[in-house]
Amino acid sequence: MERHLNRIEDYEPLCGAEAVERIARKAERLREAHVVHVNSTYYGGGVAEILGSLTLLLNNLGVRAGWRVIQGAPDFFGVTKKMHNALQGAEIELTPQKLQIYEEIVAENALRNHLDHDFVVVHDPQPLPLITHYRKNAPWVWRCHIDLSQPNATLWEYLSQFVNKYDAAIFSLEEYGQELEVPQLFFEPAIDPFSIKNRELSEGEIDERLDHYSIPRDLPLVVQVSRFDRWKDPEGVIRAFQIARREVEATLVLLGNVATDDPEGEQVYHSLLGERDERIVILSREDTALVNALQSRAAVVLQKSLREGFGLTVTEAMWKGAAVVGGNVGGIRRQIEDGVTGFLVNTVEECAARVVQLVKDERLRRRFGEAARESVRRRYLMSRLLEQHLDLYDSFDATFKLRQPR
Ligand code: UDP
Repeated sequence: MERHLNRIEDYEPLCGAEAVERIARKAERLREAHVVHVNSTYYGGGVAEILGSLTLLLNNLGVRAGWRVIQGAPDFFGVTKKMHNALQGAEIELTPQKLQIYEEIVAENALRNHLDHDFVVVHDPQPLPLITHYRKNAPWVWRCHIDLSQPNATLWEYLSQFVNKYDAAIFSLEEYGQELEVPQLFFEPAIDPFSIKNRELSEGEIDERLDHYSIPRDLPLVVQVSRFDRWKDPEGVIRAFQIARREVEATLVLLGNVATDDPEGEQVYHSLLGERDERIVILSREDTALVNALQSRAAVVLQKSLREGFGLTVTEAMWKGAAVVGGNVGGIRRQIEDGVTGFLVNTVEECAARVVQLVKDERLRRRFGEAARESVRRRYLMSRLLEQHLDLYDSFDATFKLRQPR
């Protein structure tokens, strides 16, 4: 099998020769630059998904881009998950013990990570305080992927003392912008169309993956692929399906994984298992080809999130020409144009009604699918995000102040 090499040339049929040449020129100016990205998990979740292909593309263009992952015991990730939840609007009790665990584990990671690069990008709250442990001699940027439309005020006040030490902060959408002393930029995430998760599969390959997990193929599939996280509303998905199945015959598949930085996943997964029946399949597996097979074959893909920083699963499904029904929040609202490239829903009942409508109407599914794929081709391919990163690395002056990209 041909190896997936993450070369920018491969994007030419999708984004055009001009864009590819422009990107290569920009990379040439940064040849040998040493860049590092730091996050908190190798797999599971959108950040790892992006860093995998972004760092490979950068290296293939001559930019020496590395990827470090901070380590921590479950109590550390317990605290950071509570922070994640509070940044999306939940309550948190910021006890001295929690702050001590957070700051100490980050300090330990600082000690064993020698970040003397030309450019440092730190992702999300878990490694955020790293910056306090280095004599800074390069631009440092904090990249936050979370839905920050309603962050818990006390927590944000605490975290912003760290954010303000950076040279810039990047959020996924303008509506997540905060009051900060540092410049703010907005980068929407993107997908790698050539990865195992997103490349085109043959019907035979799809059948093989579904059969491997004994997923029935006789009825239309309604699918949600998500970490087992309450914000993704798996309970709401099951309730919507229970309503929809009174009117249409279909099989629901909930596929999830558990990221190493998300200790709540196991518990959420187990809480759902009582809902299983012959037409409700709930799987916890790390299998990217299965994600692809389900998104490719589904009659309807759901992403019924209650909060969503961006929602790469939506992008992935739209790229495969799926008919997507998404929660009317954050990045999903940004990606789906309601009634044109999919449907946005606010409640379980609305979700159920849209599932029924789509399962019954193959032409509408096809119309949405075609419009959705074209929207992703124009807006959400990795070539665009790569270019934004190249511009970013090139847009700081000698005192680490942002100037206009050249
Ligand atoms: N994902 C996966 N297997 C699963 C569940 C999720 O590979 O069982 C991937 C999914 O395909 C996507 C990422 O994890 O690439 C989730 O990113 P998203 O932005 O949707 O949500 P996050 O998990 O970052 O909140």
